Amino acid sequence: PTLPYDDTNIFARILRGEIPCGKVYEDDHALAFHDINPQAPSHILVIPKGAYVSWDDFSARAADAEIAGFVRAVGHVARAAGHVESGYRLLANIGQDGHQEVPHLHVHIFAGRPLGPMLA
Ligand code: 5GP
Repeated sequence: PTLPYDDTNIFARILRGEIPCGKVYEDDHALAFHDINPQAPSHILVIPKGAYVSWDDFSARAADAEIAGFVRAVGHVARAAGHVESGYRLLANIGQDGHQEVPHLHVHIFAGRPLGPMLA
């Protein structure tokens, strides 16, 4: 079951401007910034502005306009970063077995090197 949203999580603090981030993009629905511990030459996180724990929570509760805005923002960030031609990977970890560490939905964008096969 999805936990209640905890607004003390690190990405909620980033959204409130309490903690700096390496911002790459922001619009009404989404904020994108560089991962603090990059796993690829380009490793960007895209988060919705609304209070959603995970992809599961977001897909169940968010309004259609929020979902559309977020999905478009992820695509925009990847295109603007120049990743379309060489390709990139999107990843969202959900919950305990998904090894989700921060309980605010985030989509990882990995790019800048051949990423190899999907991890187990
Ligand atoms: P998860 O395992 O939850 O999918 O990924 C969380 C990601 O957030 C990790 O890749 C981690 O490096 C990143 N991260 C954790 N804390 C911070 C932070 O304070 N700032 C930024 N920019 N990234 C963070």
